[in-house]
Amino acid sequence: MNLIDSIRASAIQRDQLQLRRHRRIQQQRDGAYAVVDGQRLLNFSSNDYLGFAQHPAVKAAFIKGIERYGVGSAGSALVSGYFSAHADLERQAAALFGYDACLYVGSGYLANIGVLQTLLDEKSVCVQDKLNHACLIDGARFAGSTLMRFAHADMQHAERLCSQAAGDNLFIVSDGVFSMDGDSADIRALASLAKQHAATLMIDDAHGVGVLGATGLGSLQASGLCASDVPLLIIPAGKALGGHGALILSNSEIIQHLLETARPYLFSTAPAPAMAASVSEALNLLAHAPEYHQQLQSNIATFKQLAQQAALPVMPSSSAIQPIMVGSNAHALQLSEILRTRGFWLSAIRPPTVPAGKARLRITLTALHTPHQIE
Ligand SMILES: *Cc1c(COP(=O)(O)O)cnc(C)c1O
Repeated sequence: MNLIDSIRASAIQRDQLQLRRHRRIQQQRDGAYAVVDGQRLLNFSSNDYLGFAQHPAVKAAFIKGIERYGVGSAGSALVSGYFSAHADLERQAAALFGYDACLYVGSGYLANIGVLQTLLDEKSVCVQDKLNHACLIDGARFAGSTLMRFAHADMQHAERLCSQAAGDNLFIVSDGVFSMDGDSADIRALASLAKQHAATLMIDDAHGVGVLGATGLGSLQASGLCASDVPLLIIPAGKALGGHGALILSNSEIIQHLLETARPYLFSTAPAPAMAASVSEALNLLAHAPEYHQQLQSNIATFKQLAQQAALPVMPSSSAIQPIMVGSNAHALQLSEILRTRGFWLSAIRPPTVPAGKARLRITLTALHTPHQIE
């Protein structure tokens, strides 16, 4: 089959499975509301958990950054694209999360691919939770390592895989909060498994930072763990930090190794310095303005209580991600459409983002929502 024929066959197949995708155009954003394809909707589909993407101080830091540095960085970090805003952000993030060092890169996807591809090779074994984010799976594959996946949250299965793993470089990798289910990994159990097997534990806390933990520092804070338990922590900045890019936190030796050898870092233009400045401001707010995190926590509690009263089929999640399991793709799409006509933006999540037969409505709560809107 030639290229066009195979593309058409694939589209027909997606059609039959109700898996066609269309990008909705967001014309404007106004707090918890979005104008989508011309219609004003209450947004329950955003990862801007603390509202920082629209926060006046974060926007001002971005604008000030542009005035000082211009827009693009115009170089990879090792050539000419590394600015004081990048260096400041890395120092600040390392101190806040209790790590020696930090590397700020262009996206979470790049971070995970770069770290895994650089630190693993054909002789390494990478043990991962089955529901890990796609880029963690891809990173282990690109490295050519042996990828072993344990059933979601099944620590006995994880233990068996670690025991089977032969080779000297063993990685255990997990999301802190699972992006489509909203539940948390048992990081304490993973940390002791890692100690037992002399493995390196890597956590991607995209949906934990800003949400979990007494002061919103994420899954490690919520589990009472620190840098010595989790030597590699990835924090994508596009979720609760309201910006773009990702922070890789580790010890100085690993960070230095990554910045000298990780191909996605070496051969990619550094993120805009103004973006680094706005992520810095978001970290500032996270550290010094607890009200956003507290509002989000209170909104999550309100939602869970109301959902329980209404006997909705929610999942065991204490994060901002509160999925309602539907099952069939067609039904999930239909519900999402009905909600849209009533003024709510709440997307149907379908395969390959979730397993077949597990389509769902994925509600995300933010600090911008009011209890009334949630009700
Ligand atoms: C969103 C996400 C990523 C990717 O981060 P980007 O900055 O959007 O590329 C990685 N891991 C997890 C768990 C995510 O939710």
